Amino acid sequence: SPILVGITGGIGSGKSTVAKIFSILGIPIYSADDRAKWLMGNDEELKRQLTNAFGPESFSADGSLNRTFLANEVFSDPEKVKMINALVHPAVGKDFFAWTEQQHAPYVLKEAALIFESGGEKTLDKVINVSSPLKVRIARILMRDPFRKEEQVNQIINQQLPDEQKNELADFVIKNTDNKLLIPQVLKIHQHLLTNK
Ligand code: ATP
Repeated sequence: SPILVGITGGIGSGKSTVAKIFSILGIPIYSADDRAKWLMGNDEELKRQLTNAFGPESFSADGSLNRTFLANEVFSDPEKVKMINALVHPAVGKDFFAWTEQQHAPYVLKEAALIFESGGEKTLDKVINVSSPLKVRIARILMRDPFRKEEQVNQIINQQLPDEQKNELADFVIKNTDNKLLIPQVLKIHQHLLTNK
């Protein structure tokens, strides 16, 4: 079975961009955030747990997730955020391991905004942190998502572990500033993961 490698980084750090480069090298990518959204609307056990915790309004009559209702429920209530995470994280964990068993590659990447924040590194062999200065990250997000306000971006940043701490905890760091090339950094890590098994 493949080596399990996490790839994380704060909002706007460029982790999706870096993951795309690995995917061009043939490395399978599991997007934990996308998959979490999918599971919340499609995994029957998780749907039952969400209904028990937040009530039947969590789902519309057609069975689809009522994202607006849940977002309002957990909005500015850290305890409810914890509750939802306590249900979604294990579901994603199970789904990820089932997915890894289907992959035929020397290693796979699990892309997630939060890894160290939730102890996710314990279930991974290696973790890569994509690191960029705060100013650059905020500018990138405001450019990519014109609907976002700077306060909202700052609020998300405050819920994430600071970049310096993630760099300390990570096995590999990719620096994604405008004067650093990504592809050579990715190739170096790729070689390392292929040869140091
Ligand atoms: P999020 O946590 O919000 O999903 P992310 O860490 O996955 O963010 P990306 O979506 O990869 O970040 O990058 C954020 C934006 O910055 C994107 O529009 C991307 O194209 C751009 N970007 C990332 N890295 C670079 C770079 N080296 N040069 C130019 N643009 C970049």
